[in-house]
Amino acid sequence: MHEHDVVVVGAGGAGLRAAIAAQEAGADVAIVSKLHPVRSHTGAAEGGINAALRDADSWEDHAYDTMKGSDYLADAPAVEALCQESPEEVIQLEHWGMPFSREEDGRVSQRPFGGLSFPRTTYAGAETGHQMLHTMYEQVVKRGITVYDEWHVMDLVVTDEPDPADRTCHGVVAYDIQTGEVNGFRADGGVILATGGMGQVFDHTTNAVANTGDGVAMAYRAGVPMEDMEFIQFHPTTLPSTGVLISEGVRGEGGILYNGEGERFMFERGYANNDGELASRDVVSRAELTEVNEGRGIEDEYVHLDMRHLGEERILDRLENILHLAEDFEGADGLTEPMPVKPGQHYAMGGIETNEHGETVVDGLYAAGECACASVHGANRLGGNALPELIVFGKRAGYHAAGKEMSEAEIPTGKNGEWEPADYEFEISVGEVDSRGPAAADGGAVATDAEALLRTAVERARDRVETLLSRTGRNHAEIRSTVQETMTANVNVFREEDRLEETLSDLREAREAYQEVAVSDPSRTFNTDLIHTMETRNILDIAEALTMGALARREFRGAHWRKEHQERKDESWLKHTLVSWNGGEPELWYKPAILEGESKTYEPKVRSY
Ligand SMILES: Cc1cc2nc3c(=O)[nH]c(=O)nc-3n(C[C@H](O)[C@H](O)[C@H](O)COP(=O)(O)OP(=O)(O)OC[C@H]3O[C@@H](n4cnc5c(N)ncnc54)[C@H](O)[C@@H]3O)c2cc1C
Repeated sequence: MHEHDVVVVGAGGAGLRAAIAAQEAGADVAIVSKLHPVRSHTGAAEGGINAALRDADSWEDHAYDTMKGSDYLADAPAVEALCQESPEEVIQLEHWGMPFSREEDGRVSQRPFGGLSFPRTTYAGAETGHQMLHTMYEQVVKRGITVYDEWHVMDLVVTDEPDPADRTCHGVVAYDIQTGEVNGFRADGGVILATGGMGQVFDHTTNAVANTGDGVAMAYRAGVPMEDMEFIQFHPTTLPSTGVLISEGVRGEGGILYNGEGERFMFERGYANNDGELASRDVVSRAELTEVNEGRGIEDEYVHLDMRHLGEERILDRLENILHLAEDFEGADGLTEPMPVKPGQHYAMGGIETNEHGETVVDGLYAAGECACASVHGANRLGGNALPELIVFGKRAGYHAAGKEMSEAEIPTGKNGEWEPADYEFEISVGEVDSRGPAAADGGAVATDAEALLRTAVERARDRVETLLSRTGRNHAEIRSTVQETMTANVNVFREEDRLEETLSDLREAREAYQEVAVSDPSRTFNTDLIHTMETRNILDIAEALTMGALARREFRGAHWRKEHQERKDESWLKHTLVSWNGGEPELWYKPAILEGESKTYEPKVRSY
């Protein structure tokens, strides 16, 4: 058994920042990660970090843009914290040595990004996340923070009182990918989940293969609600054959989108008469797919993104990485030809419900980064707002877990504030989910003493691994493919009621099939078949919650477009969707969005660009 004050699960931008903050506040902190820190997906972030650094800019404008971008579903206290604190966090990164791109006069450069009223996106070429990750990892090494890398966390160790608000998290159980050992990590100060995105729920995604939403599913099984899962960002510029991202930085620098008829459709077809290519991502993705669906796409699949007019010097200076990606993955030379692009899954606006300090409803359990929902993105995230979220809320969660005094939170978690049950009748039964078999046991453990709780959880996890390795049954890959295919076909940019119902039915079958899952590779070292099998269970939980939320939300808001409901309905839907794991089945409920900020209320307006 390993013991630390604070255990951070995940070593991407959020996890590293949380660990640094907890260590600064005096805690003995350890990071547990299934990947080596610098292989975390934050390293793939290209475009930049939003922060109001210039005199002509302000955190208030950044907050306004973010609330508008969210289609008024973000919580103002979290948004204001993000916008107030991101400048000092960017300056902190700069002081730690992050090599930002610079102006002639030495100031950190900023570029325009979609949905921003000021060019406030700071960047390091087109490899901002890579530089950010390495800068923070240097700090982790310098401070001697313990890192257990290549440990796959299987579950949280949480007491099992009936009401999640009475539960306490005492640690995690993890599987050592190098040796096959299962062990417990006790953390009486707190566990911080920073496990990143869940793009593998879909089959065309910009996310890495490791982005399977593990932390979200673990928290869910331990009684923490998943919030706003139906809001998925589909990025408008991904390469068609692989899903590899072409950064919004290309459009920020002046890149232009053309349809198959050579029209600059964002303007010529009236999708965004003011901002054109730099409208919010949900708007651009819908525009591209409309062009393709109405026969004006290229090869019935994609549109063109052209940056040739920017000139070789500027492209090499600011977007060199993009040239390599387009060449390596699509065979397109961005200097001499336009690049093919189409929308692809990119980001989860929803996740583990937290308040603005990263606290969940379970005592001692925190979440930060893409796996968390504080909520700063609401129904649509603005480009460049995820990286500042990692450092602002990673730091807050780290401080809080280490016992540093914080202000009282304004965002309630769990059913501690106003809430209402869902009134939606699913045609497909969402109840009676049997996930208590040995291959898919529940997260909670029956004991209140921390030591006993950890021992029980470790035993249970060992049993689960042994069962998966020793029995014969179905391979996880076919189940994962079923989930990815149905989600991509039916829960994408455009959503329709009967196809969402069909997906729920497909997911039901996939869940039943998972009860018989087995791992054919018996090895104990680097058994990726086993890891992927455990991850597939997480994908299933997330896909189901996401589809339930999408079916029940009968309006069109941000990234959530519904064929049958073509309007944003502020009278009835200014509320967050929550899905809780309750007594063996998912429960859907709602809580109001908080639009009251420090000194103003963000009144919902028509969202045009
Ligand atoms: C291609 C791409 C480009 C992007 N560009 C930008 C951009 O320019 N600007 C911007 O603001 N946002 C951008 N984003 C979004 C942003 O990069 C991500 O939201 C963010 O980096 C996620 O960071 P994170 O720390 O939450 O997770 P990650 O960096 O993904 O780290 C997750 C960590 O959790 C660990 N982990 C996961 N599961 C387990 C488990 N079961 N056990 C142990 N460890 C586990 C992993 O090992 C990893 O260390 C981009 C996203 C993508 C995909």
